[in-house]
Amino acid sequence: MSKINPETSAIRSQIDRTKYREHSNPMFLTSSFVFEDAQQMAAMFAGELDGDVYSRYANPNTEEFIDKMCALEQAEAGFATASGMAAVWASIAGVLQSGDHILASRALFGSTHQLLTQILPGFGITHTYVDSDDMSTWANHIKDHTKMLLLETPSNPALHLIDLNKASAFAKEHGLILNVDNCFSTPVIQNPLVEGADLITHSATKYIDGQGRVLGGIVLGKKELIEKVTFFCRHTGPAMSPFTAWLLSKSLETLHVRMERHCRNAYELAHKLAELPMVDKVIYPHHPSHPQFELARKQMKYGGGIVTFVVKDGLQAGINFLNRVKMCSLTANLGDSRTIVTHPASTTHSKLTPEERAAVGITDGLIRVSVGLEHIDDIMKDISQALN
Ligand SMILES: *Cc1c(COP(=O)(O)O)cnc(C)c1O
Repeated sequence: MSKINPETSAIRSQIDRTKYREHSNPMFLTSSFVFEDAQQMAAMFAGELDGDVYSRYANPNTEEFIDKMCALEQAEAGFATASGMAAVWASIAGVLQSGDHILASRALFGSTHQLLTQILPGFGITHTYVDSDDMSTWANHIKDHTKMLLLETPSNPALHLIDLNKASAFAKEHGLILNVDNCFSTPVIQNPLVEGADLITHSATKYIDGQGRVLGGIVLGKKELIEKVTFFCRHTGPAMSPFTAWLLSKSLETLHVRMERHCRNAYELAHKLAELPMVDKVIYPHHPSHPQFELARKQMKYGGGIVTFVVKDGLQAGINFLNRVKMCSLTANLGDSRTIVTHPASTTHSKLTPEERAAVGITDGLIRVSVGLEHIDDIMKDISQALN
């Protein structure tokens, strides 16, 4: 067959059928695999013969999930983990060593920030934060032992973008491993590996599952780096469960149709919110008011499923808004089929000072909407009644 499209691989790529000729892939809830004889056992243990040994290493379900994700992200290899944070951790700890230094964009996912500031220094791995909107200053922060450039684009929740093409040229010039958390965009919107990244991570908990059911993650990238990540994970144990991998492989069959709908709803919501008098500002990559609109149109196939907006009158207005929504959920997740609203200034970022919040683009009245798959009229109705 000629080369098939990623949408089709996500639906059709399959592990071998069993003797029962099932159409949907079965779940392999087994911790280990049986050998025919001592010779086969020795060869599979040594890696001389392909075949599963133990589910902490690999399992048919996790392999199916990894194969599909590799097809979607055009990755050479991958390793599936128990959560997105296990993937972020493995993508750093699996390839760096004590004494290494990371250059990281300032606006990172909360737990990634904790990892860099509270955990990695204890293992001798240090970092410097750089401002994502001023790449010209990045080179000033490179040290002899800088080994990795760690980025998120778009950032959470202020949706700042980083030009992946330029970031990858910068990483190449300075001999850095470019590691991108692609959770917000999914492979449907952008493929950082194609733009020149060396490693990417996903929290599969978000859009990849898309229904708020399981935790999962994956590291994807260049073969020689994934070999290190795989070695690290096989012997430290953050393997994805076969049940989760089975669910996620099924979820990938609908990823493209779900993302198209998430993004269309988000696009409409952003445009409608921009017209409301109670709204100071709307932030959405594919809205013309976004300061990096041109880059967003070039880099992102769609604008994404997250819309951020700022209500007039700040902190209290943000809290009031959350108290008035009726249909939208107040919960910590994102990328769910159900629309979710959050108010970072009073929750995830409440420990920061207003100045620290401002440095990552979080003003007091900022609301993040993870736009779900409900009818856009119902989402809009709930949000506008809560604003009035
Ligand atoms: C949620 C999230 C993570 C962590 O994923 P978990 O599955 O919750 O461990 C990492 N990065 C980003 C951008 C996220 O949104």
